[in-house]
Amino acid sequence: MPINIEFSERLKNLPPYLFVEIDKAKRAAIAEGRDIINLGVGDPDSPTPTHIVEAMKAAVQDGNNHHYAFDAGLPQLRQEIAQWFQSRFNVSLDPETEIYPLIGSKEGLAHLPLGVINPKDKVLLTNPAYPAYRPSIEFAGGKIIYVPLKAGNDFLPDLKKVAEYKDIKAIVINYPNNPTAATATKDFYTELVALAREKGMIIVSDMAYSEVYFDGEKPLSIFEIAGAKEVAIEFHSFSKTYYMTGWRIGWACGNPTLIAALAKVKSNFDSGIFQAVQIAGIAALKSDSMIAEDMRSLYQDRRDYLINGLRGIGWKIPPPKATYYVWAKLPKNFSDSMETAKVFLDQANIVVTPGIGFGEFGEGYIRMTLTVSKDRINEAVLRLQKIL
Ligand SMILES: *Cc1c(COP(=O)(O)O)cnc(C)c1O
Repeated sequence: MPINIEFSERLKNLPPYLFVEIDKAKRAAIAEGRDIINLGVGDPDSPTPTHIVEAMKAAVQDGNNHHYAFDAGLPQLRQEIAQWFQSRFNVSLDPETEIYPLIGSKEGLAHLPLGVINPKDKVLLTNPAYPAYRPSIEFAGGKIIYVPLKAGNDFLPDLKKVAEYKDIKAIVINYPNNPTAATATKDFYTELVALAREKGMIIVSDMAYSEVYFDGEKPLSIFEIAGAKEVAIEFHSFSKTYYMTGWRIGWACGNPTLIAALAKVKSNFDSGIFQAVQIAGIAALKSDSMIAEDMRSLYQDRRDYLINGLRGIGWKIPPPKATYYVWAKLPKNFSDSMETAKVFLDQANIVVTPGIGFGEFGEGYIRMTLTVSKDRINEAVLRLQKIL
């Protein structure tokens, strides 16, 4: 007799996966051999730069790298991260206490709440948002309060509203933002840090897109604001900067107590990052700055192409300042993001992500990615011209 196996209550309580239907339709379309243009994936179409692959190859062949890694990673990796941070943001971090390497930033973002959130603690989460924040806050027993990101406030949380809440344990922010492509200003960060210090609130800042910016406007790290280290932890990723999504490496940095909490959770869950991947990470951080420059001009070019193309067919979307996402208000005569995604797939063989999938305040929008070639973007615009 098989025993009765059920998912745990915490797993059952997670929200339903909203993309099931559209995923099914997409797979069916591909199986039918239809020529699909996928503007749904958040994964760059370029390979990892050769010098990083070469560093990995050599490291894999060295038996010294075949063992359990140190939990806190190679000291050289932490030093390299500190140097990179200094030259990019003019912020100094102590490699011993203020930097911790991760198996991708998603891993760290998901583990942090278990180290700092107690049952019933209130956590502010922006909405729409990257879906990975919510589950572990709930697993830790935290109570989520959503703060809407609206076009009228440049997709920043309204800090006057935030100031009105009492007993908030933490707030999670993400700039440059997925999915809205918004960036945060120095004034915003300054006000948020002041608020957090006053209220004893932790700031969790996800900066996975720190290097994917356009028109020369470099996004700020929260640690460029004086006093931020008292309240904040920031998550960084190699994935988007160096086309390394599959390698699984990133880091957390900032407040030493927050770092220590995350480290303690992790030491119980994993045994570090494969050392060869850490060595590849060191090679990535030492990259010629042209690598990131080229990445930015590739996406900026595609962005301009898509935005101009869509404007040409009467769909006006403000150009994003960062990330490889275009967050677009639904075109005329459409009112439902899920329905829009279905029509695009059925009638134009184009995959986009419905805004509702990122939270209720994502309704009214779809997200398109710039991870396909200009030819395919051009083709997408031609197809949309026929149906819009
Ligand atoms: C891609 C992404 C991440 C995850 O990056 P990894 O380092 O690959 O885990 C984190 N946050 C946001 C908003 C992302 O889009």
